[in-house]
Amino acid sequence: MDSWQSPIAPGISWYQATVGERAAYPALDGSKTVDVAIVGGGYTGLQAACNLAKSGVSVALIEAHRFGDGASGRNGGQMGTGQRWWPEDLEKELGYERSKALFDMAEDAKRYLLDFAKIHGIEMDYMPGQMNVSHKPGHDKEYRANAEIAAERYDYPHISFMDRRETAERLGTKDYYCGVRDMGTGHIHPLKLLVGLARAAQEAGAQLYEMTKATAIRRTRNGPDGKIVIETPSGVLTTDRALVATNAYVGNLEPATAAHIMPIGSFIAATAPLDDFPDVIPGGEAVADSRFVVRYFRKSRDNRLLFGGREVYSSRDPKDTANAIRKQIVATYPALKNVEIIHAWGGNVGITLPRQPFVKEVMPGVTSIGGYSGHGVMLSNYCGKLYADMVAGKATELDHLAALDIPAFPGGQRLRTPLLFLALTWFALRDRLW
Ligand SMILES: Cc1cc2nc3c(=O)[nH]c(=O)nc-3n(C[C@H](O)[C@H](O)[C@H](O)COP(=O)(O)OP(=O)(O)OC[C@H]3O[C@@H](n4cnc5c(N)ncnc54)[C@H](O)[C@@H]3O)c2cc1C
Repeated sequence: MDSWQSPIAPGISWYQATVGERAAYPALDGSKTVDVAIVGGGYTGLQAACNLAKSGVSVALIEAHRFGDGASGRNGGQMGTGQRWWPEDLEKELGYERSKALFDMAEDAKRYLLDFAKIHGIEMDYMPGQMNVSHKPGHDKEYRANAEIAAERYDYPHISFMDRRETAERLGTKDYYCGVRDMGTGHIHPLKLLVGLARAAQEAGAQLYEMTKATAIRRTRNGPDGKIVIETPSGVLTTDRALVATNAYVGNLEPATAAHIMPIGSFIAATAPLDDFPDVIPGGEAVADSRFVVRYFRKSRDNRLLFGGREVYSSRDPKDTANAIRKQIVATYPALKNVEIIHAWGGNVGITLPRQPFVKEVMPGVTSIGGYSGHGVMLSNYCGKLYADMVAGKATELDHLAALDIPAFPGGQRLRTPLLFLALTWFALRDRLW
């Protein structure tokens, strides 16, 4: 099954080629009534299904394609720390208490994910370390402060400042001016996690269906007697509660989700093993840079460079993706000009306007969760688990996210995509010019 091509994202990923045996799940065949129905088989949906089933709730999950065909099986694998923004920046907007609560929640997310993998015997190729680096001079003060603030105000002593020399040594390129190195996090093989998660959800008793697209979600009537109905071509799910976990792939299914979470194409290439280039990230950490169109790269366990970048208007042809990423690799690592690119692929990152997750009850009994804005590897797994806790009536850290003010993208259904592309192109241009 190593040649499976996701119908909704370009290119066969290196993850697909190296994931090994993966189970296929049946399509829904006939109608069912369950306590909770979930639409979307990425980390968010599968974690919710797994945890609901573990607590004895009857749960059915439908995925339009194969599990992981969206972002969860194809991402950069970087777990990160905290939220998408540095805590000191969130603090300016939300105050210390809320920023600290969001930081602590992300730490819980990190612990949860590593424990989950251990408990369920999921070998997800974890490698420690992540570095954030500045592509412009003059930012030493901010990066140094980031490490200090993390230790002193956020009880997180794992980040250290890197000056230009150390940054060059640890990355194997002179392209960056300074950075921070976080040894309290790491990076993973995202599809190995996804496949293990689906197995765990099935073993817990969740009813899992692939190749089953939800075509409509509606309530039969408002009020306590009303039911939620999810239509598919091969049957109807009737339920009291539903989770929309479609993230950037929501399409026309649910309008509030579509108005708040926009898809942005992001692309990754995997090189041949870099055995002749020991200077490239010798410590094996992941890297994310400070560009608006972030370049994120890391070594795999078998010593390849997995290099991600984003082209807002990129063609969806994997050959063009390989060429575009090759240029970025060579700009960063000139010595790799002849390196072979073995795989190139892409996927849609779900972003929100303030780049913070979207958690909202979009109609009575129906919650939508997504929009992790490129920071969802650990958060989406945890949010799925927290959704299950919420259904069980527990107070959860999901409330911290639900309290965030996430406005809809401007422009309405017709204009929001062109307006967003215009804005992104402007910021991407700034990366190149300044
Ligand atoms: C190229 C790329 C690189 C990334 N790199 C990183 C990274 O390094 N670190 C990080 O933290 N985050 C990263 N992300 C983001 C991260 O992958 C996501 O935040 C996370 O996987 C979101 O999971 P999810 O389950 O919410 O959504 P998804 O995994 O996108 O799943 C949504 C699913 O819903 C299904 N669906 C949609 N509509 C329907 C329907 N009508 N019926 C049934 N099913 C439907 C889709 O087919 C899809 O499988 C990256 C994303 C991409 C694309």
